This record gives sequence, C-alpha cells and structure tokens, in this order.
Amino acid sequence: MTADVVIAGAGPNGLMLACELSLAGVRPIVLERLNGQTKENRANGLVGQVVRALDRRGLYERLSGGAEPPRPSPAFVFGAMPLDLSRLDDNPMYGLPVPQHRIEQVLAERALELGVEIRRGHELTGLSQDEDGVDAEIAGPEGSYRLRTRHFVGADGGRSITRKLCGIGFPGVTRDDSVSRGAHVTVPAELIDPVTGGLNVPGYGPIPPFMHHRTDHGLFVYAPFPTGTLVHATEWNQDGGDQPMSLDELRDSVRRVLGVDLPFGPPEGPGPHQLRRVSGGNTRLAERFRDGRVLLLGDAAHVHSAIGGPGLNLGLQDALNLGWKLAAEIHGWAPPGLLDTYETERRPAAERVVMHTQAQSALIAPGPEVTALRALFTELLRDERTTKHIADMMSGADIRYDLEGTHPLTGRPAPDLVLETATGSVRLAELTRTARPLLIDLTPDAALAGALDGRRDRVDLVTAKTSQDGVPTAVLLRPDCYVAWASDSLRPDAKEHDTLRTALASAFGAAR
Ligand SMILES: Cc1cc2nc3c(=O)[nH]c(=O)nc-3n(C[C@H](O)[C@H](O)[C@H](O)COP(=O)(O)OP(=O)(O)OC[C@H]3O[C@@H](n4cnc5c(N)ncnc54)[C@H](O)[C@@H]3O)c2cc1C
Repeated sequence: MTADVVIAGAGPNGLMLACELSLAGVRPIVLERLNGQTKENRANGLVGQVVRALDRRGLYERLSGGAEPPRPSPAFVFGAMPLDLSRLDDNPMYGLPVPQHRIEQVLAERALELGVEIRRGHELTGLSQDEDGVDAEIAGPEGSYRLRTRHFVGADGGRSITRKLCGIGFPGVTRDDSVSRGAHVTVPAELIDPVTGGLNVPGYGPIPPFMHHRTDHGLFVYAPFPTGTLVHATEWNQDGGDQPMSLDELRDSVRRVLGVDLPFGPPEGPGPHQLRRVSGGNTRLAERFRDGRVLLLGDAAHVHSAIGGPGLNLGLQDALNLGWKLAAEIHGWAPPGLLDTYETERRPAAERVVMHTQAQSALIAPGPEVTALRALFTELLRDERTTKHIADMMSGADIRYDLEGTHPLTGRPAPDLVLETATGSVRLAELTRTARPLLIDLTPDAALAGALDGRRDRVDLVTAKTSQDGVPTAVLLRPDCYVAWASDSLRPDAKEHDTLRTALASAFGAAR
C-alpha cells in the first residue's frame, strides 16, 4: 500500500479534504492533472454556513485578512428577489466575498503546511479495486505509473473520471435555453450611487449592487466586489455561438436585457479578470457517492446552477463530513457503517441545493406567469418566517443529521459558544481548529469526564464555564462541528451518562 488515501483533484473540495485528513493524522496524496493552480474565475465568494465552518478551522481569518469573527450578512437575494435578513434574530446567512482562485491558494498553502503531497501534472486515467485497496493509474510528467491506496476519493469536478470509471450514473437535466455573459469591467464613477453603491443607468434608473435584477428580457447583475466589478447578463432562447467572448458581446447583451446602453470599459488592475460566456447548464446528482473503497466529493457528486452561490457551501461541507470518517476507518476505530453515513448525511444536503437552485432558476425565467409568481413570492417574503425559512435553506442552516438523541441541537451545527476556561475566555471556533472530537463540559462539577474513559485517544475534553444564556450545559461535538449529543442538566444523571456513552460509541467507536 503506497498511500492511505489518494484524492483526484486539487480543486477547493479535494484540498479541503486533504487538510481534514491531515489534521486527523492521515497523509493523503493529491493528484492534479493541471501543472499549476488554475487562474479560471468561478466562485466569487462563499455563502452560508461554510463561512462559520472555515472559521472553526482558522481559515476564515486567512481568507478575510482580518482578525474579526464572521458576522451574518444583513441582505441576500433569492431568485432575484431581495431578502431582508436584518429583521431576523438568528440570521444564518454568512458571506465571504473571496474569489475561488484565492480560496484554492489558501487551501493549498494550508495543505502543504500540514504535510500533504500535491502532485501537479498527474492525471488519473484508470481505477480498479479489490477487497483491500484501490489501484490508480496515473499519467505523470515522467510517464504512466500506478499507485495503490486503501481509499480513493474523486474530487475531480463535474466531469469526474473517477465517477465514470466506477460506472456511477449522473442522472439529471441539461438545459440549453440560456446564455449567460459576464466580465470584469470599469463603470464610469458618475453612474455609481455614493449612498447605495448601486448603478444609476442612464435612461433606465437605479439598480442595486449584488441584487440580481430581472427584466422582461433577462437577468442583469452589477457586483462591485473588492477584487473587481463584475457585470453579468443572462438571456433566454438564444444561441451563444462559439466565437471568442468579448466586451462588445456583453454590451449588446446588456442592451437587450435593460433596453438601454450601459457604458463600461475594460477592467483595471492585475486580474485575473473574467470574460466568460456560459451556455445552458447542468443539474445532476450522482446515483451513489460511494463505490466500495472509492468515494465522490464536491462537483464530482453533484452539479447545479451557480445561482445564489451554493456550490462551495455544499462541497466544502462534504469534505468536512467525509474527512474524519475516512480517517476513523483508517485508524481502525470507526464504528460499523460510519463511512456510509457520508452519503446518508450529505445526499439530502445536495438534494436541497438542487431543489432551491432549480426553484430560483424558474423564478428568474421570462414570461408573465413567472412575473405573477414573483409577485406572490414577494408578498410571502414580507413574512419574517418565510424569509427565515429561505435563509436557512440557502445557507444550509436547516440541515439536521439523523443522529440518535432528543436534544434539539442533536445533529445540528454547534452554536457559537464563548467559554471561560482555566486559561481565559475563548470562542468555540478557536477550540475546534485541531479537528478533534470534543466533549465540552460546562456543568458546575465538571461531572462528565469519566464518560471518555477508553476513548481519550480520540475525544478531547474541555471543561469550562459560560455566561451565555440559553446554551446547553454539555455538548459532544464531531470534528465537523455537528452536535452528536447535548444536555441541559446542571447535574447529569445516570441516564444522561448512558445516552452520552451511546452517542460516543455511535460516532467514535468502541472504548479501548
Ligand atoms: C461560473 C461559475 C460560478 C460559480 N460561482 C460560485 C459561487 O459564487 N459560490 C460557490 O460556492 N460556488 C460557485 N460555483 C461552483 C464552484 O465553482 C464549484 O462547486 C467548485 O469549483 C467545485 O469544486 P471541486 O473541488 O469539487 O471541483 P473543481 O473545482 O472542478 O476541481 C476539480 C479538480 O480536479 C482536477 N481534475 C479533473 N480531472 C482530473 C483527473 N483525471 N486527474 C487529476 N485531476 C483531475 C481539475 O483539474 C480540477 O483542478 C461556480 C461555478 C461556476 C462554473
């Protein structure tokens, strides 16, 4: 066996998984067919609960460049309709406007720090597996070679060769009735509203920033990101052609969508700059996320419209879910069936993204019936509960993994706790950076430590106090920061000790 885990693909999700495995004491090899990091601009940022998850690994600070913890965004957009999130008591919508190439750079740096071997210019070409391991065939710069590994993960994108080599189907729909054009541009300063930051388009009127803007003829987006201003126009029932994309083509499309000219020029600054035409799109979900010792991750397992930017919220959390389970399998303490819960937990999350991106695509389409549907949705969104429902869905905050236990936090992401420990005040997000399972005991007598006997090699204990109201008195956290067990008792009784031991066994295996 050359490796415990080989990952195909050094995209964001493959790199995140590599970091998680390394934190858990497994050294993966990452194969990437490209010689260097791609300069292609895809995601413009991270949206949803993944921002908190990255904070819990110390990666938020690296990406934001500041020391402040993440804060929820006061506004977002659903199907080109504004969501006023400032009204919500418990706003789940976090955002981090960082381009994907920077996210990949930060994840690659972190992976290398953690000792991951990234082989660039090495392309997966074949796969076979037996009971004990997987043989990968690779075309490298010095010729073809084979690697034998205990587990193989395909994080090789929507056209995943891993998925194809395993014969896993990718059912779904391909739409070819839309053309989306986008580019980094410079907009004349006199068109920018100094108060709202939006555009005042001559002959058309104000268009707010970042809010998708639907007209009778298509969709327009003006997005002044710190790294550059993006203008996008989407039209329906059009053939994008195959000539190279140009700013003039975007100008023509914006004119058709808005009905007036928007003056703009080429972008300033070093780039990389976007100039892209995307025709149609795919919504597909892999039939299975696992084939024996081979697993699919990120876009290899699911693709969908980029509307609302849910891709990395989904894929990076797939990686957080899979990393510790795969490591547990390799270390030999995984309880039976743990690795299968990767799919049972993450498939519903992917299905939900498929549902809301398709719903949003329907809501931005042209036609009077859609306009009527939007009027109805606008009325519904005046109700705070509807806004909360949509925000929870888009951010992934409504995920509840099916774990045994009756506490309302069981199966949900951990709340943001501030703990007073013997060494001072600390945010939970600072305690989870090692990616170790944690039992947080806030009971006055620190009564729960004994439950960890036989599992102290796997589960860390934090005893602390808190002055926060409405938080549990004890929480058992998985490495992906989902709650495996929680209690509100100040003095847990024998029954609660038993339920804690059951939760420890089902997440972290038998005591040794
Ligand atoms: C236009 C656009 C806009 C988007 N906007 C957003 C957004 O705002 N927010 C958001 O969260 N998401 C967005 N997404 C989605 C996001 O970009 C993807 O979900 C994300 O890139 C998936 O990451 P991945 O690591 O799974 O796959 P990829 O990023 O596709 O990486 C796969 C890697 O595998 C490598 N590879 C492929 N085949 C092989 C092989 N045989 N051997 C070795 N290596 C191989 C590839 O070279 C690549 O580096 C957008 C996507 C698009 C297309």
